[in-house]
Amino acid sequence: WHRSKSTHPDVRERTLIAVKPDGVQRRLVGQIIQRFEQRGFKLVGLKMLQVSEDLLSQHYCQLTSKPFYRNLVDYMTSGPVVVMVWEGDNVVQSTRTMVGPTNPAAAQAGTVRGDFSLHVSRNVVHASDSLEGAQREIQLWFQGKDLLNWDCYDQNLTMEE
Ligand code: GDP
Ligand code: MG
Repeated sequence: WHRSKSTHPDVRERTLIAVKPDGVQRRLVGQIIQRFEQRGFKLVGLKMLQVSEDLLSQHYCQLTSKPFYRNLVDYMTSGPVVVMVWEGDNVVQSTRTMVGPTNPAAAQAGTVRGDFSLHVSRNVVHASDSLEGAQREIQLWFQGKDLLNWDCYDQNLTMEE
């Protein structure tokens, strides 16, 4: 990481996080964003949208043959989602840990899923599961121009140069 205030040649690791329709309907967006903010990650992209089935089939391309896929499409298109890109050291793995396992029944208290959800088909939030997955998903959901390179004033207090 070599910081350059003017041109930002290097960008730290990024991941895609989404508040799913149940999380939006339940007004959990603020609490979920707060967790990633207070950990020290930097928000570099954010939007709310109604997801199309087409986008979803690309996002979940590895799951289209699963028996629950139809259910998943109905769930994910049932209302708006809030999708975000977060940046910071080790952000993919750290946010996965903060989100908790896919099945909320196995999620510890203190994780988003462990605190806010009960069932795998209503698990409130999405988080990319690998660096490659994150890159693929970010490109799928965002245009490059909608991701901001900005200097967070207290970055030197939460991350080492
Ligand atoms: P994630 O990365 O932890 O979100 O889990 P996956 O990528 O394996 O699955 C994507 C999403 O599909 C999950 O977050 C759930 O919303 C849903 N899902 C996964 N497994 C099941 C299942 O067995 N039943 C149902 N109904 N939904 C599932
Ligand atoms: Mg996944």
